[in-house]
Amino acid sequence: MPELNDPYLIARVSITENTDNAHLLEVDGVCPLCGNYLLIPKGKRMNKKYQIAHIYPNSPIPNELKELQGLERLGTNCEEFENKIALCKDCHGYYDDHKTKEEYLKLIKIKKRLMAASKAKISTSHQDIEDEIVLVINSLMSIDPVSLQKMELEYKALKISSKIEMTYSILKAKIETYVCIYFNLIKETFQSLDQENKINFDLVASEVRASFLKCDEEIISKSEIFEALVKWLKSKSNGSSSEACEAVISYFVQSCEVFREISQ
Ligand SMILES: [Zn+2]
Repeated sequence: MPELNDPYLIARVSITENTDNAHLLEVDGVCPLCGNYLLIPKGKRMNKKYQIAHIYPNSPIPNELKELQGLERLGTNCEEFENKIALCKDCHGYYDDHKTKEEYLKLIKIKKRLMAASKAKISTSHQDIEDEIVLVINSLMSIDPVSLQKMELEYKALKISSKIEMTYSILKAKIETYVCIYFNLIKETFQSLDQENKINFDLVASEVRASFLKCDEEIISKSEIFEALVKWLKSKSNGSSSEACEAVISYFVQSCEVFREISQ
């Protein structure tokens, strides 16, 4: 019989917004069991279609204790990130009611794969992205001065974007992560190139702003606007990775050239 005093089982810990975002990012916004989207746009809002599930239950019923006895468990207690996973409401409900050994081990396998993938992403990409960001910024040197003339109009048009609410938690978490890691590098690179007269930062910023406004007229979803800007920047900097371009666009979101009214 299973131990009565199991140190793995501790009192329920509520999930903070950041941890919730991390779970959503981990599964790329789709349910890892059925593939359904976990956020569904409804008007200007996003409907949350997911819950954070315990892989090993917080309060196992006798049947579960028996079924899961002796199987591998992730994390040092049931409330750690390792033992939780974002699932759509249907899959979560089904999992909670039909926890077989097979279903449990399947979820353990999925969670391990997701954790390995995000670990690999963090460790391999960091230095490459730093080098690439510099290249991306360098390629912005040849920006067309005509775009400066559009600036007055652009500032007025920006007010329209302030009416769209920031309900995009995946996008927000992504931008915050990039800003956290690369903001200073990007700022310093722009500053030094500007001082050496190799780049005109105001011109670059107005170009990004112009491109944002063009997207803002055509696209309603902020996630899609972000994607379109990354694509646009990628087309300007031959062969650079999406990650480097995402980092640079995130910089402009943070420095308020993109999504100006609501990003503060
Ligand atoms: Zn599902």
